[in-house]
Amino acid sequence: MPSTRALIHAPWSASKVSAALRCPRLFHFRYVEKLREPDVMPEARIGKAVHAALEAALQGTATAEAAAVARAALTDEAEQRRFDALATGVDPFLARIGRFRRGRRIQRQLVEYSLAVREDLSATQFYAGDAYYRGVLDTGYLYDEDNLAIVDHKTGVRMAPAIMRDQLEGYLVLAASAFRQVRRFWLGIHWVAERAVEWAEPVDATQVTNRLIPTVLDNIEAAALAVDDGPRTNPGPWCDRCSYRTHCPASHQQRWEPVYDEYEDED
Ligand code: SF4
Repeated sequence: MPSTRALIHAPWSASKVSAALRCPRLFHFRYVEKLREPDVMPEARIGKAVHAALEAALQGTATAEAAAVARAALTDEAEQRRFDALATGVDPFLARIGRFRRGRRIQRQLVEYSLAVREDLSATQFYAGDAYYRGVLDTGYLYDEDNLAIVDHKTGVRMAPAIMRDQLEGYLVLAASAFRQVRRFWLGIHWVAERAVEWAEPVDATQVTNRLIPTVLDNIEAAALAVDDGPRTNPGPWCDRCSYRTHCPASHQQRWEPVYDEYEDED
């Protein structure tokens, strides 16, 4: 059973857990006060536009049109150029998916697919009042009766998949609840800039039950505990990418206060 403090902040998601563990003040700004983000990072805008282009193209929109519509959301020229470079990865991804589809019996394609579970891990609607944990799959394929392949698009610099493990394993917990017939889960990361898809070892349904579900629930409890003392700040390297820097006194101190030179007066 979840603790009361975990239930108070439900519904959880992988990014919400991550925010709580990283900085309770950031969690408070985003999920308690629900403040509009004053400093959205260019990377976030570009990533959102690339995701939109991939989503539309996977659903049948011509690539050029999908890219043009997504690009229109960006107003900064430098961001548009970065988007253009990333959008060249859409067609190679479609070709890869085409090859994947030809080799399997595809039952269903999932694009930007919302999933949620209740506190007892039964499936519910994403916006339902009883949702306890939820997430959105970028792309998925139910195939060969009992397999599910999930692909998550990443538009940033390639990094070790272990860094994203909590997010990706959270998807498996959600998918296992929604698609009970699936016995084997495959997780791939689509590195858009490199036009590469990196696959992890497949995970079977028993591993999801025995290992991943307890891990996700433990992480939620740890996150709830981290924010239980209120919105304390936890400045660190992540402040450079925080959308609430201008609201945060810790960030101001860390970034802009002049450093006192203890030897200055001795000269
Ligand atoms: S700037 Fe840093 S300390 Fe302040 S809320 Fe953001 S992550 Fe937390």
